[in-house]
Amino acid sequence: MKFALTVIVLAFLGLQCTTTARTPQTNENQKNNNTKNQFTMETTNKFEFPALPYSYDALEPYIDKLTLEIHHGKHHKAYYDNFVAAIKGTEMESMDILDIFNKMSKFPMAVRNNGGGYYNHTFYWEGMRAPGSGLPTGKLSDAIKKEFNSFDEFKKQFSEAGKTRFGSGWAWLSLDEKGKLFISSTPNQDNPLMDLAEKKGTPLLVMDVWEHAYYLKYQNKRPDYIEAFWNVVNWEEVAKRYERALSQVSK
Ligand code: MN
Repeated sequence: MKFALTVIVLAFLGLQCTTTARTPQTNENQKNNNTKNQFTMETTNKFEFPALPYSYDALEPYIDKLTLEIHHGKHHKAYYDNFVAAIKGTEMESMDILDIFNKMSKFPMAVRNNGGGYYNHTFYWEGMRAPGSGLPTGKLSDAIKKEFNSFDEFKKQFSEAGKTRFGSGWAWLSLDEKGKLFISSTPNQDNPLMDLAEKKGTPLLVMDVWEHAYYLKYQNKRPDYIEAFWNVVNWEEVAKRYERALSQVSK
């Protein structure tokens, strides 16, 4: 009896030690993965349609519920479905999305348009959050001031990139291969990760300027939507993306 009890106590202590010893290792692994990955969908070939990271009315009044429902549930979903159909039975099925973008010029237009549409929208949703008076902080804030002189000047140039994109497309803040911030805009569903981009870089912030992103609320007034967009930027997420992108540059 005494022996059995001792065995149980020792086994319990052993379990405790194992648990204690393993916990930091797990955390370390998670930390490494987070540092390595720009964002989850870039390192998997399991292409899934993402849920919105907030409710459909979370960005009201700046981006209305109906626009988000249609934009995410219909437009984004269609890009996703068409992308999955376009890569079915091809070598792209086993590639991750960054590899596909890296070799974009070799692949059919359906993959460029729908793969871009799938990725860009996921990135756009995650770069927004419920309205707040947030501004970039820390290293990101310093980098923006260094590159654009002030936050207001950055905001002006980024807004201008969105306003002057003729037809449909996107405005981007990205990090180039030297660790320098730059603003660009891409037509249709292109993005700065594609080998055919005018200027390649790692995206940090994106704004959709397709009419479907704002027409129901703002009609033809794209500048009003752009002004409203600044109220829902998730600067914490952008700062995380910046630090991850910067750690890749310095390697
Ligand atoms: Mn869109």
